[in-house]
Amino acid sequence: MDFDEDFKPILNKTAEKYRAKIQSVIKYCDLCQSFDGSEVLWLWGQKLELEELLFKYKIPEKYIDDIVPHLFCGGCHNPSLDRCSYVSEEDIYDVDIRKNLKEIDKKFKKEIDDFTTLITEYPSLALSHRFGRRIYKTITTSKLPTCNINGTWYRCRKKVEDKNFTSNDILAPQTGISSLGRFNHSGQSLLYIAEYEEVAYKEVMDDAVGQVLMQEIRIDKHENVLDLTSEWNNFHRDNNPIIVALLVNKLVDQKVVFKESKWKPEYFIPTLISDCARKSGYQGIKYKSTKSYECNVVLFDKSSKNIIPQGEPFLYSNKDIKENSFSSEVDF
Ligand SMILES: [Zn+2]
Repeated sequence: MDFDEDFKPILNKTAEKYRAKIQSVIKYCDLCQSFDGSEVLWLWGQKLELEELLFKYKIPEKYIDDIVPHLFCGGCHNPSLDRCSYVSEEDIYDVDIRKNLKEIDKKFKKEIDDFTTLITEYPSLALSHRFGRRIYKTITTSKLPTCNINGTWYRCRKKVEDKNFTSNDILAPQTGISSLGRFNHSGQSLLYIAEYEEVAYKEVMDDAVGQVLMQEIRIDKHENVLDLTSEWNNFHRDNNPIIVALLVNKLVDQKVVFKESKWKPEYFIPTLISDCARKSGYQGIKYKSTKSYECNVVLFDKSSKNIIPQGEPFLYSNKDIKENSFSSEVDF
C-alpha cells in the first residue's frame, strides 16, 4: 500500500510511541534481501510477517491500522509495508558486526578525519600521515581477501554522432589520454569493467537518457584481484581493521560531489590504495559501484592476454535498463 504523506492517519502521543518502537526494529524487507532470479533468498534476519512483529512487540490492536501506513523498511526505506509484508529484525550476527564496526570507527575516526583533510590539500603527502602509512603497510604486507575475475564483463562509451567505435576504442585508452579516475592518476591507463551492462551504462551516463556503445569482454581467470567490496556479510571480526575503517567510512567508493570539476579529492585515497595494490603485485581491485549494488573491477594490466573483447560494440540505451535494476544505498 502506498500512502500519500498528507493522507496518513494522524497519530496521538501513545500511538506515536508505539510507532517509534516498532519502526526501530524493522531492519529488512523482501526488497533488501538477495534474489535468485525473481525468487527472494531471505538472508537477513528471521523472516516474519509485519503482523507477527507487531504482536511480538505487543503493539495494541487499536493503534495498528493507524501506525502501519507510517512504517517503512529501515534497510532500504521501502514505504510500501502492510500487515502481511515480510520483514525482519537485525539478527545477533548483524548486531555483532555493527558493534565491531562501531569500535573500529571510533578507534580511527580522528586519524581518518585528519588524514582526509591533509590529503585533500596535499594529495602527494599521504605517506607523511600516520593513517596514510597504515594504508600502505596494510596493503603491502597483510593478507587481504582476493578474488579471481572470470566470465563476461562490460565496458561502454557514450555514442558520438558519425563516429564508429571499434572494440579497441572502447577498451582502455593508451597512456596519456585518461582523465583522473577513481583508481588511476591522470593519463594512467587502467581497464575499468562492470559486472552488468546496466552498471556499465550508469558509470558513464549516470541517470542521463542516451545511447552508448557497449562492449562485451570475456575475462579468462584474472587472479589475485584485491577484493574491496563492502558487502555487509564480508565484515567479520577477523577482517583487517584498516580495510574495514576504509570501507565503513566509504573512502573506497565515495561519490564524487562535483562531477564536472577536474578537482576530485574523493579519488585521492582510492588512487593511493591502487598504487599500494599495484606495487604489491595485485592484478586489480574489485569494488562496489557508487551507482548500484553491483561491483566494478579495475584491472591494472590492460594488455593481459586474459582480456578478450567479444565481437564488436553494440548500441545500448537507457531503455534497455530493466526496472528495479538499482536500489538505493544501504547506510551502515
Ligand atoms: Zn527493505
